[in-house]
Amino acid sequence: KDSQEEPSNDKPLFGSTGRKIIYDKDGKPCRSCNTLLDFKMAGGSLIGGLSTKKPTQARDSIPEAYKEDPPDVEQLGKSTWTFLHSVAATYPESPSPSQQDEMRQFMRIFGKVYPCWFCAEDFQKWSSKNEPKVNTQEEFGRWLCDAHNEVNAKLGKPKFDCNLWKRRWKDGWEE
Ligand code: FAD
Repeated sequence: KDSQEEPSNDKPLFGSTGRKIIYDKDGKPCRSCNTLLDFKMAGGSLIGGLSTKKPTQARDSIPEAYKEDPPDVEQLGKSTWTFLHSVAATYPESPSPSQQDEMRQFMRIFGKVYPCWFCAEDFQKWSSKNEPKVNTQEEFGRWLCDAHNEVNAKLGKPKFDCNLWKRRWKDGWEE
């Protein structure tokens, strides 16, 4: 409970999705911990306070492709799982001791820097009880699939069949 102050009375506890709204230490809604809808409902600014400052660049000189919102918890999650499972798909089938060590370190640091802080805390707790298995590509791919299934279960999503992780993330479905 030390990572999140209790929101004050004027701030909603739950969003329109029914999920608890997550606030940062400074009491502001956490953009990468909530859905965009809940973030907006909790009063999160979509333009990060820029409106009160003198614009540094005319809006119409900014390319359209730049003007996407920063990621919410779902977009960040999907992109991150894509990255992590793709890392498993290119991890050596028989990694050297130093490659195994690097992967252990990478996952440890990942658990510290993941931008959704409450997701990161749960992930760190889970991986401290379930140390990364890095002896082979297959082992690591399955460990990551288990980690992802842990989050799926927490969110009430269906469990993924880990026998299929390599087809989903490496080989594809062509017979
Ligand atoms: P995702 O869960 O993002 O999955 C993307 C694709 O991966 C799926 O379409 C499927 O093809 C495949 N897939 C699904 N399960 C597996 C599996 N077990 N193994 C291999 N492939 C699989 N969100 C929260 O709201 N609360 C949290 O506490 C939270 N914790 C997270 C912790 C971590 C480390 C990460 C990376 C994300 C977390 N998220 C959390 C985000 C959440 O897991 C989802 O990414 C997000 O809800 C979007 O879900 P999605 O339905 O698009 O599919």
